[in-house]
Amino acid sequence: MDEQQTIAGTHQFRLIEMETRAVTTTFSRPQHLNVPADLLDRPKAVFVNGRWQVGRAAAPMISIDPSTAKAFSSFLPASPDQVGEATEAAERAFADWRRTSGGERSRFLSAIAAGLRDRKADLVALQMLNNGKPRYEAEIDVDDAAATFDYYAGVAKDLDAEQGRSVALGDDTLAGATHFEPLGPVGLIVAWNFPMVTTAWKLAPALAAGCTAVIKPSEFTTLAELVYADLAGQIGLPAGVLNIIPGGGEIGAALCADRRIRKISFTGSNATGSRVMAAAASRIVPVSLELGGKSPIIILEDADIAQAVEIAAAGIFFNCGQMCSATSRLLVAEGIAEDFTTALLGKADQLIVAGHEDPGAQIGPLTTPEQFAKVKAVLEKARADGLDCIAGGSAVPGRQGFFIEPSIYRNVPTDHPLWREEIFGPVLAIRSFTSTDEAVALANDTDFGLAATVVGTDGDAAAAVARNLDAGHVWVNTSQMIFPNTAWGGFKASGIGRELGPWGLSAYRGVKHITRAA
Ligand code: NAD
Repeated sequence: MDEQQTIAGTHQFRLIEMETRAVTTTFSRPQHLNVPADLLDRPKAVFVNGRWQVGRAAAPMISIDPSTAKAFSSFLPASPDQVGEATEAAERAFADWRRTSGGERSRFLSAIAAGLRDRKADLVALQMLNNGKPRYEAEIDVDDAAATFDYYAGVAKDLDAEQGRSVALGDDTLAGATHFEPLGPVGLIVAWNFPMVTTAWKLAPALAAGCTAVIKPSEFTTLAELVYADLAGQIGLPAGVLNIIPGGGEIGAALCADRRIRKISFTGSNATGSRVMAAAASRIVPVSLELGGKSPIIILEDADIAQAVEIAAAGIFFNCGQMCSATSRLLVAEGIAEDFTTALLGKADQLIVAGHEDPGAQIGPLTTPEQFAKVKAVLEKARADGLDCIAGGSAVPGRQGFFIEPSIYRNVPTDHPLWREEIFGPVLAIRSFTSTDEAVALANDTDFGLAATVVGTDGDAAAAVARNLDAGHVWVNTSQMIFPNTAWGGFKASGIGRELGPWGLSAYRGVKHITRAA
């Protein structure tokens, strides 16, 4: 099967009229990826109360292969009334699920991890097709999602033992005890850049805590997320504990507005995060927000240049720069700036930018046509503003997919959008500094505070710089490693709350204190 309809890339193609559905009956599915049909053909794509339903939205959504800009699948998403059915099921299931033992929940979480690993090859192929990820990146995603479920399986096992711990009240006539309660049915809304992973970071701790969940996947990468529902069925997760309602922003908004949802955890852009927070505020519902970033990387004077180049390249080119944590502002000590920049240009020049047709691909395409248009507009503005582009600076010529050249700009003014705003593409802005204090001041001069990297041969000195950076996660002499038992989340406009580790669990629990007569 190979053909057909080229997707020029506007939102209209996702929400096309019903009569044009015929267009989507002929899909382009690259044979070499061998994605099983059960992951691609979803006549029923809404999962409510343990059952698959046909989506009742007025129009289908189309999945696009970013390596070719061709459609490979379509499905009918949920209607607003299906959101209500899902939250009702989650509320009903909560009554029993909250009373299960931590050990029981742990077994379900381990089973989800095992299920993800069983289907790893298929899920890797699907992510290569849907997200444009090179194979090794898609593999990291599946491993990361499975590791997160394993981690919270371990956490859940120990939860019962910490219930009812006594608190000394200093009054012999009274006894105090602390309990933790799950918050209730929760709404989990995610972005498209790491499907399955960002969902795992929410779903695993929510289920471990005893919450039930309604997931709203990104409209761009829904198919990989539906595997969680397949697994729920396979492992016998009680009906209603996990529900998935595919759809766009209106379905996310309906979920946020639903009175049964007692907590919203959101990963996405600041603009949408602000809307989610406003919706939550109107009902006084807690939120966790994982938002954008414009993270700095500081290359200190004593850095090993070859190592610094590898770390800098990984920080901006992994996932084609579509990372909230991308270190997109690079600060290099003036004394090594020239040597470092020359070496970085050499590295950028060698990177293989290609789609899934090339097993050697190191940078894939951007994932969505919208993101492709956005990044091209950023590069055009940089050109119009006369920025000093020293690598790339445009879309890869002659390619039909959403490919952008690895792009590097030097001496970017600190008030330029390229320095201040999240781009979400393989676009790096560089400046040099003359003192560590200047580097820290420049690094912290941003509305965001998600991540940062420091590179220097003297690890203690580099770590001391890390302590001065306003960021939720700082890497020293390494890049973009996130472990399930560490914290993920940002300061300032990068969000509210933390995912992963014990902090990720706390996001789904409330504290209840019982004081009684002794
Ligand atoms: P987005 O804000 O456009 O969409 C995110 C999700 O919100 C999607 O599922 C979307 O359908 C939904 N949505 C849209 N309107 C809504 C509304 N009114 N109410 C509720 N839900 C609504 O973001 P995106 O383009 O999918 O993702 C890219 C952004 O995500 C970037 O800014 C990136 O930095 C951020 N991100 C952050 C993290 C993190 O951990 N901090 C991780 C990944 C991505």
